[in-house]
Amino acid sequence: MANTGSVRVRLAPSPTGTLHIGTARTAVFNWLFAKRHGGQFLLRIEDTDRERSKPEFTANILEGLQWLGLAWDGEPVVQSERIGAHRAAIGQLLASGHAYRCYASEVELQEMRERQAAENKPPRYDNRHRDLSAAQEQAYIDEGRQATVRFRIDDGASIGWIDLVRGQMRWVGADLGGDMVIARRAPAATIGDPLYNLVVVVDDAAMAISHVIRGEDHIANTAKQILLYEALGLAMPVFAHTPLILNKEGKKLSKRDGVTSVADFRAQGYGAAALANYMTLLGWSPPEGMGERFSLAEAAAVFDFDRVNKAGARFDWDKLNWLNGQVLHDLGPGQLLEQLRPLWAGEGWLDQANEANEDELWRESLCALIGPSLVTLRDGIDQALPFFRRPELSEAALVQLQAPGARAALQALLELLVEGPLTLEQAQDLLAQAVVAAGVKKGVLMKTLRAALLGSLQGPDLLSSWLLLQPSGEAAARIRRSL
Ligand code: GLU
Repeated sequence: MANTGSVRVRLAPSPTGTLHIGTARTAVFNWLFAKRHGGQFLLRIEDTDRERSKPEFTANILEGLQWLGLAWDGEPVVQSERIGAHRAAIGQLLASGHAYRCYASEVELQEMRERQAAENKPPRYDNRHRDLSAAQEQAYIDEGRQATVRFRIDDGASIGWIDLVRGQMRWVGADLGGDMVIARRAPAATIGDPLYNLVVVVDDAAMAISHVIRGEDHIANTAKQILLYEALGLAMPVFAHTPLILNKEGKKLSKRDGVTSVADFRAQGYGAAALANYMTLLGWSPPEGMGERFSLAEAAAVFDFDRVNKAGARFDWDKLNWLNGQVLHDLGPGQLLEQLRPLWAGEGWLDQANEANEDELWRESLCALIGPSLVTLRDGIDQALPFFRRPELSEAALVQLQAPGARAALQALLELLVEGPLTLEQAQDLLAQAVVAAGVKKGVLMKTLRAALLGSLQGPDLLSSWLLLQPSGEAAARIRRSL
């Protein structure tokens, strides 16, 4: 029976790695659905794989979710602390006959799988210890064998659910690989470490989760979990399986694709708002008229699973870059400065001892100059560099500095140049005078001045760049260097 009442969803990350973009996207859909329905978004840390789970991964996951603006409700549930409840459920399944102990050794199971492979059959447990007599069981125990606990999956079992994304789903027991291990091998009469499908069901039920929203790679698990809900007599949540994120080649996005962890995106200069916006578009189509740029709150006001696609969502860097640029371009110079300040400080460009007001105004002017061409925040390092450090001259700049009229033009400008800041009008006036004095075309002077000041023929607006380099005497120094 489906859970009624208020919406309670959860993200259940395993702290065996950093926060992956796929998990983060699952978090986004859960969060949006919870907000849409005034429900709760809960967090459960699935740390039962003791060897691979690490506290630093938990910290990375929590920090990443916070950074993205995906606040969760209440304290995270730590799965390993609930092992008593998991063992109790396994005990209940053993007592009710839904589960049994399997004494088959690793070697025997390996032989079984090799035989299946030789016969071109899919690997499955052949349920060989399902109906051991008490005497057979005792014989294995006397041999000193350990046992796993397996949950019975009858071949004829028929499993169905209405998936919020994929509609009517149907599975038969025969396709689920035979009786499933729910507790690892342990000495006879004890219960070993409980395994994923069992613990997820027990915990989702205990947390009164109404909707399980997770990636479609869990569909077969869902079929198995439904059988566990039934056997344990627990209320069943509604399921929604979201499409996978695919790389350029149409394969599941993996670590091999390079940047896949939220922390990597952040380090590359992507902002939380743009990344959250982009992840929402990975598999969800906003309603007509909404456009592709929105906040999480705006998406939450209209989010539903009818607009989640069944097909995999291809990761599109161009769109992410576009969104990120849009967010940066909308910032005022002061806001952009606050975002760039830590990066510039990291480069050693901010002189703490000299926090004069003019410096702040100068930095804001620099932000106003470079802001419109930023795609990522890190571009704000590359593009600000020539204003903090005297750049090398590029090949093209060197060629320009030797072009006919170039030297005369710079010479004329240098002679006219006075110390201290300039206004835009004064700078334009000086250029006009220098053009006349040197007898060159204005274009020649402009191009040469750009080469001299910025060391390159590309870059931001020339006059604004000059005005920024003027007060410190750096403009004159760079012109002199070029001569
Ligand atoms: N720990 C599982 C994972 O990270 C959770 C899957 C689920 O949501 O049930 O894939």
